[in-house]
Amino acid sequence: MNCPNCNSEISNSNINIQTDLAQCQSCNKIFKISENFNTIADDKFDILNPPNGAWIKEEMNQLIIGASTRSPIAFFLVPFMVVWSGGSIGGIYGTQIASGEFNPLMSLFGIPFLIGSVMFWSFALMAIWGKVELTLDKVGGKVFTGIGSIGLTKKFSWNEVSTVRENNSVKFNYPGSQGGQIVIEGSKRISFGTGVKESRRYYLLKGLQSVLSKVKLNKRFV
Ligand SMILES: [Zn+2]
Repeated sequence: MNCPNCNSEISNSNINIQTDLAQCQSCNKIFKISENFNTIADDKFDILNPPNGAWIKEEMNQLIIGASTRSPIAFFLVPFMVVWSGGSIGGIYGTQIASGEFNPLMSLFGIPFLIGSVMFWSFALMAIWGKVELTLDKVGGKVFTGIGSIGLTKKFSWNEVSTVRENNSVKFNYPGSQGGQIVIEGSKRISFGTGVKESRRYYLLKGLQSVLSKVKLNKRFV
């Protein structure tokens, strides 16, 4: 077991399972074992058995767990977007192009529609082809959110991470999002997983927690 504060190894004599307390001999921090390693006893979760739409892969000292952001909302979003952005952008810019006359006021008026289109189209495309994927190794990991290789990557190292939890009070709900996100906390904060169906998000959460507890206990996970 390693200290959640300074990450140095804690000798067995400083660990008391009965009282749920351990003390680090390097920095003298006392902490509750259950709070810092809350997934040790979680034996019902099976990382090798992902739900439909989620996956696990082992590659070259890396463990990859991921989930698709595919959602039935796409059946609504795509036709809606074709009509909405086609109508607004076609109406505002298409008419200018067709007539060959530039209208600065109308072009300015169209900017929010352009921004809105980019935003909602990226949600719509995520609902068809998107994924959230975690690539984990001994040192740390990265979280990818996107389509194919186009997207956002957030990196972390294990010694910056103290907990992984779920945040269900997400304020920003766009069409297709299903509430909730996964939060990696420690010296920095990474949140991801908005828009991932609950059963898949649960798999990513528990998978990441179980890997974290193995890392903290110096156990192999790949
Ligand atoms: Zn310590």
